[in-house]
Amino acid sequence: MLRQVAEGVLIQQSEFCQSNAVVVQGGAGVLLIDPGVLGYEMAALADDLRELGQPVVAGFSTHPHWDHLLWHAQLGTAPRYGTARCAAAARDQLRDPGAKARIAKAMIPPDIAGQVPLDLLGLITGLPAETAQIPWDGPQVRIIEHQAHAPGHAGLLIEERGVLVAGDTLSDVLMPMLDLNDTADPVDDYLAALRLLEGAAEGVGVLIPGHGSIGGADQVRARIDQDRAYVHALRDAQVPSDPRVGPSATYDWVPGVHARQLQRLAQRSQRDGTPG
Ligand SMILES: [Zn+2]
Repeated sequence: MLRQVAEGVLIQQSEFCQSNAVVVQGGAGVLLIDPGVLGYEMAALADDLRELGQPVVAGFSTHPHWDHLLWHAQLGTAPRYGTARCAAAARDQLRDPGAKARIAKAMIPPDIAGQVPLDLLGLITGLPAETAQIPWDGPQVRIIEHQAHAPGHAGLLIEERGVLVAGDTLSDVLMPMLDLNDTADPVDDYLAALRLLEGAAEGVGVLIPGHGSIGGADQVRARIDQDRAYVHALRDAQVPSDPRVGPSATYDWVPGVHARQLQRLAQRSQRDGTPG
């Protein structure tokens, strides 16, 4: 199940939406980023790590969406981190007692809902704003915080391994999904995020998106360009030539999400009286 993608960096890909859980080997155990989605997959990951003699010593959620906030009891009780904004957004979503049931009903596809353990959903500790690195005993993991897709979204750069963990950006199967909730300028937020990731991309040889396939050095630039072109097309209300949202899309629900983004951005610009 676990596959090495760089020295000391392994991934496990979920059956759900090609979600990538990332394992980084450190001095006394591993850092686990976005642990996975289905209960049996996370349990299998816990088994594999136990066999390798590598306990989980820290967890990290790249952003406050349910598929990145899960945990399994067998993974243990290591501290689980996120950015301060990510943790605050997770807390906010889970504030009332009916929250988990609501998330299960509204967000999780019915065919897998019974296999997604929600008991430990979102129990993350926010790192103080401007924290530069994940606090743990292992290779330095730089936090590149931005506001694209979700509040307090973190790209993670493991410089000495040449690895960029991209969260829900730079995917080959999902186009940029903008945070259209309470944000003032979701298009700008996305373009700013891409500039930050671009600034960190020098020397990256392995790109790990939250969903989709692992990219090599040549893919880093290509995927940044592809995401930027998509966001520009969305901003300008043009038809993007993007295979991720066209007839050959990997997931048949993705073109529908694209159409809704287009529509909601049009409504926003009408409401705000701004052109395009
Ligand atoms: Zn996701």
